[in-house]
Amino acid sequence: TVHVVGSINIDIIARVAALPKPGETVLALESTRLAGGKGANQAVAAARMGAACRMVGAVGADEGGGWIREIIASYGVEISGIAQVQAATGAAHIAVDSAGENQIIVLPGANAHVVAEPVDGGILLAQLEVPVQMLTTLFAASPSARRILNAAPPTPAALALLPHVDILIVNEHELAALAPGPSAPDQLRSLLTRPDQFGIVTLGAKGLLAVWPDRELFVPAWPVNAQDTIGAGDCFCGSLAALLDAGTPVEQALPLAAAAAALCTLKPGAAPAMPTRAEVDAFIAS
Ligand code: ADP
Repeated sequence: TVHVVGSINIDIIARVAALPKPGETVLALESTRLAGGKGANQAVAAARMGAACRMVGAVGADEGGGWIREIIASYGVEISGIAQVQAATGAAHIAVDSAGENQIIVLPGANAHVVAEPVDGGILLAQLEVPVQMLTTLFAASPSARRILNAAPPTPAALALLPHVDILIVNEHELAALAPGPSAPDQLRSLLTRPDQFGIVTLGAKGLLAVWPDRELFVPAWPVNAQDTIGAGDCFCGSLAALLDAGTPVEQALPLAAAAAALCTLKPGAAPAMPTRAEVDAFIAS
């Protein structure tokens, strides 16, 4: 089982001709409401890749909270661990202009109230949109699980969590924020001090680099005509968790998860763009 502990947001996306300046009102061309949050996106990705996936998170006891729980469940994620609490459902208010430039305002809301029980075995996957203190306690109390941290968004408070992480996943910006320096392998190694830990830095359209204490593995991205890279990182994390849970060796799982992430860039949005295992296998065979 993949246990995802993370955020759940309603993404309210308004398409505008030009982003509003302070004090200005602009009319949206269109507004859509989508399920989002790194936790929910990664849980959906893991379930679509075929894992038994259980999500632990929190939404409000409001209409939006019920709506988003149903959407997450519709992708095959087990949602009994998604609590409905006395806070607003997390929300991301996103404005996107005609050039693709965006402004985002995030209300953490119920995500600030996520509490998770320790996990025994399987995969534990978390990001940093829920309280880091809670994650530190959870990871320390779940040593029999394979613990994956996607350190996004990066915060210095995550440094205390790193000793309890088995696999760290960051993109280039997150790596620079957590451990500034000129060399990605050295930066990752400065964050991971246990010999059995390893780190992955995703490099967008270039691919990714996995870094162990004594070796490195570069995995190129799969060439695709990317349309919308939103959710690519989440797809990679959730897919990798699912593959490792199924017993796939890391060296095989990395290019497969990268293929899933490449496919994710072909469709708009995050959750609706996550590919199934069959789609990934067909893409690799093509
Ligand atoms: P994030 O979304 O967190 O910024 P990245 O942009 O690094 O993460 O993307 C995560 C992974 O998704 C990459 O390692 C790569 O395998 C895949 N990916 C991202 N963008 C592309 C792209 N344009 N073409 C193919 N694969 C991509």
